[in-house]
Amino acid sequence: MSQPIKIGIVGVGKIVRDQHLPALAKDQDYRLIAAASRHGKVDDIANFPDIEAMLGAVPELEAVSLCMPPQFRYDAARTALMAKKHVFLEKPPGATVSEVEDLKTLAAQNGVSLFASWHSRYAPAVEAARAFLDTAKIRSAAINWKEDVRRWHPNQEWIWAPGGFGVFDPGINALSIATHILPAMFITSAVLDFPENRASPVAARVTFRTSNGMPVTMDLDWLQTGPQSWDILADTDKGAMVLSGGGSKLAIDGKVIHEEPEAEYPMLYKRFAEIVRAGTSDVDLAPLQHVADAFMLGKRNVVEAFFD
Ligand code: NAP
Repeated sequence: MSQPIKIGIVGVGKIVRDQHLPALAKDQDYRLIAAASRHGKVDDIANFPDIEAMLGAVPELEAVSLCMPPQFRYDAARTALMAKKHVFLEKPPGATVSEVEDLKTLAAQNGVSLFASWHSRYAPAVEAARAFLDTAKIRSAAINWKEDVRRWHPNQEWIWAPGGFGVFDPGINALSIATHILPAMFITSAVLDFPENRASPVAARVTFRTSNGMPVTMDLDWLQTGPQSWDILADTDKGAMVLSGGGSKLAIDGKVIHEEPEAEYPMLYKRFAEIVRAGTSDVDLAPLQHVADAFMLGKRNVVEAFFD
């Protein structure tokens, strides 16, 4: 087996504690040796206030995972790529499409790997849904992603700021699955609900079509209390498909055909090790492009103020 990849982590917050640290602790492909964060710390490794200090003090680092919010990721990614480190980007990979294109070019110029991670694509039933849809004629599809922002993102101010994406922060997870399992599509209309005191939307209704006219709707809502829904439905000639639980359960005509516990972050790190060792990059910008298009084409609807 190859030597473990010496990795550092940047932006130690919720997702690092919930997912990255547990996944890395169990993965023999990696050795986590340093962290950089203004306030957060990781036990038992070297900690630094920022990525420049970390890269200067720990030259043996081969890769970094960048887990700060998207608005603050580009400069850190550029610094790491210029220092010839492989880079794992949390989702969404950046605040704009063009800055991530720039990172792709920098990775190629510096001979290192760039990974735009989309964790929901690694949900357990996503590949089974893709295989089912590959053999079916799809008549229409619908994405329903409705969750309670107060429960999942308490006091996260960046998420409401420009570049934080608002309800498209979870919505882009749905799009990362939809762009993997459905035919290529484009947005034809969108309505985005902006609370009067916020810079990002709390809900959105988006319609897409494919080039041969197949309609897809997307309903995003961040004020859903009670049961949460993270579902993609498709009406097909082989039955009604429901991919629910954020991609964890697949049913056709009401019969569950695939369900297993999620292991999204271990799978993401497996994929990252694969591309590092193959000397390639994996940067699919389709989900980010759809979000950009929704902001570009969408009608802005002002709704009542939102308070945490
Ligand atoms: P978070 O806890 O609010 O932020 C992560 C860390 O980034 C913070 O603890 C902070 O660490 C650093 N940070 C915040 N503002 C910064 C700034 N202006 N400049 C530099 N660093 C800054 O957010 P999170 O929930 O972990 O989400 C981070 C990313 O992971 C997002 O892109 C999100 O979409 C994605 N993600 C989140 C979840 C989730 O369930 N939360 C799930 C999947 C993916 P310091 O103050 O120590 O620097």
